Amino acid sequence: MSKVEQLLKYQEEDSKYLEIEREVAVSDERRNFVQVKNYMTKAPEKLAAMDAKAREMSAQLAKLQSDYEDVAETIGDFDNIDELVEGGADISFYKKNAVQLGDKLKTIKQDILNLSKAMKAADEEYRAFKKKTIEMQDKYVETQKIYRDYKQSKLAEMEHIKKELDALAKDIEPEVMNAYQTKRNERIFPIICAVKGDRCSKCGMELSIVGKDKIASGKVTECENCHRFLYKA
Ligand SMILES: [Zn+2]
Repeated sequence: MSKVEQLLKYQEEDSKYLEIEREVAVSDERRNFVQVKNYMTKAPEKLAAMDAKAREMSAQLAKLQSDYEDVAETIGDFDNIDELVEGGADISFYKKNAVQLGDKLKTIKQDILNLSKAMKAADEEYRAFKKKTIEMQDKYVETQKIYRDYKQSKLAEMEHIKKELDALAKDIEPEVMNAYQTKRNERIFPIICAVKGDRCSKCGMELSIVGKDKIASGKVTECENCHRFLYKA
């Protein structure tokens, strides 16, 4: 058997292994598990962000409440306005000031109300998220087991193919095998293809002069575009 034939035989067996790998990669079992896993990976970050937001709003509320008390206290000072007026003070000045302070108090009150609403909504969101995260923890264990069992069910078949591959690899030169595996890891497949005329049968790229020479002398060359091994059938 020629070197090319050996490698083609190996590739044919390898394609069965790849087929199972692909099947596992696109399976519902894997997709469900990955979804839950991604959620769980992002959850701590999201919870931390919600915590930070809650702390910020609490600080804002404390500030507004303190402002409110300050203004209310200043307004309280107007209780002795009668004494001030009797003492000859300008009543219109105090009236204007009192109105302004009253408006300010209303604004702060409204701000406090709005902030309280926002805090309540944030708190509800936090509780809902926490509840979901606890549910997802259970789901993580569940989908992980399903995915593991699913992979386990493919194992016997994969091990059988692997044995065949190991046996076939014994007849192939190590450097050729290494080059094959490198391409396999780069997700190029099939790795060795026949030339079609002067072109790569996979991507259609025309061979270089050197490539044509190699093919003409019965050697294997590499496509300059898709980097597959090319041989003359
Ligand atoms: Zn190509």
